Amino acid sequence: MDYDVEKYRSDYPILCRTVYGKPLVYLDNTASTQTPRMVVDTVTDMYYKHKANVHRGVHALSQEATAMMEATRRRVRDFIGAESEREIIFTRGTTEAINLVAASYGELLSEGDEVILTVMEHHANIVPWQLLRDRKGIVIKVVPMLPDGSLDMDAFRGLLSPRTRVVSVAHVSNVLGTVNPVAEIISLAHEAGAVVLVDGAQAIAHKEVDVRRLDADFYCFSSHKMYGPTGVGVLYGRESLLEKMPPYQGGGEMIAHVAFEHTTYAELPFKFEAGTPDYVGIAALHTAVDYLTGIGVEPISAHEHDLLRYTTERMMEIPRMRIFGTSPDKCAIISFLIGDAHHYDTGMLLDKLGFAVRTGHHCAQPLMQALGVEGVVRASMALYNTRSECEAFVKALHRVASMLG
Ligand code: PLP
Repeated sequence: MDYDVEKYRSDYPILCRTVYGKPLVYLDNTASTQTPRMVVDTVTDMYYKHKANVHRGVHALSQEATAMMEATRRRVRDFIGAESEREIIFTRGTTEAINLVAASYGELLSEGDEVILTVMEHHANIVPWQLLRDRKGIVIKVVPMLPDGSLDMDAFRGLLSPRTRVVSVAHVSNVLGTVNPVAEIISLAHEAGAVVLVDGAQAIAHKEVDVRRLDADFYCFSSHKMYGPTGVGVLYGRESLLEKMPPYQGGGEMIAHVAFEHTTYAELPFKFEAGTPDYVGIAALHTAVDYLTGIGVEPISAHEHDLLRYTTERMMEIPRMRIFGTSPDKCAIISFLIGDAHHYDTGMLLDKLGFAVRTGHHCAQPLMQALGVEGVVRASMALYNTRSECEAFVKALHRVASMLG
């Protein structure tokens, strides 16, 4: 395979550091990926040369900053195959994007209308809908999963009803790694007259995404999980729906005209972008998208799958290893427990050996309940992880397993 992982690794100064005197092996990519030098360079360049508030200035700096922000909007539009930049809304992240849809599209729902979620959703795709339930009296229904961690599609079909208004589902589970059949979900939901929000937080850096081919109504993701800066996210929304939706927040930038008697709102996408955006982060997101597409999402995905297959097979050789999520279509996310050992103990021992993994409920407590556990350890791979890191990880797991008895 023509995939030069060592070359890509050299883009990340942080990967050269040690922890507790051991080389860092970063396997917490589901939480946040690391940031390549060129993305950080864009942030620095923006602060050193172009920083000025966007959209309001006649002066050169403001126009430069605005041009950079709007260039990112067009770049993201092309990256995800949206029709128009009017459909690309910058948010603080996936969480804010889902809150925006639940609050704003939620205004169009009535008591008794139904929203379908799945058991494997992140809290970011549960709680905003519960807030809407408290406000509007909507009904939340939950799609269960099969033993391998794939969605129970028969149950999903059974939950669709004439009252279904929204289906909100993760493209990829942040715990199980399961890739959900979102194209099929969207097509079934549309037949039932519902709109679909796809939480793409765990998909965007690992799978080709084309919102028009998927026919998604809403698709959202976070920059910090795709080699970009923190503090920025994207909500894609179908223009015809965004047009109907009321503003989410009020303030500067989102208005056409303000008077105490009556205020009119700005055109899309600005209607949904109140206040000063993180224009520095947005400019750097452009570089992250260029970086990702420069390597290619497909080659990255093939590389990560190779690591997933290898690591899973080797982990299964460890006595008492329990892996959660074995669906045939999955991303490089491995959640596990060693026998009854506490996830925190396993994570702490791995940390002392230089391995950065995450432990706990992973913001998916209903999923933990369905799995019958309090928490799990999660190792997740990204474009810069290597086969030798995975070998070292498995070796460390053997050691940890024997330490934990
Ligand atoms: N949805 C999924 C599937 C996630 O994995 C995450 C974060 O881990 C989120 C939503 C929330 O993302 P953010 O914290 O960037 O808003």
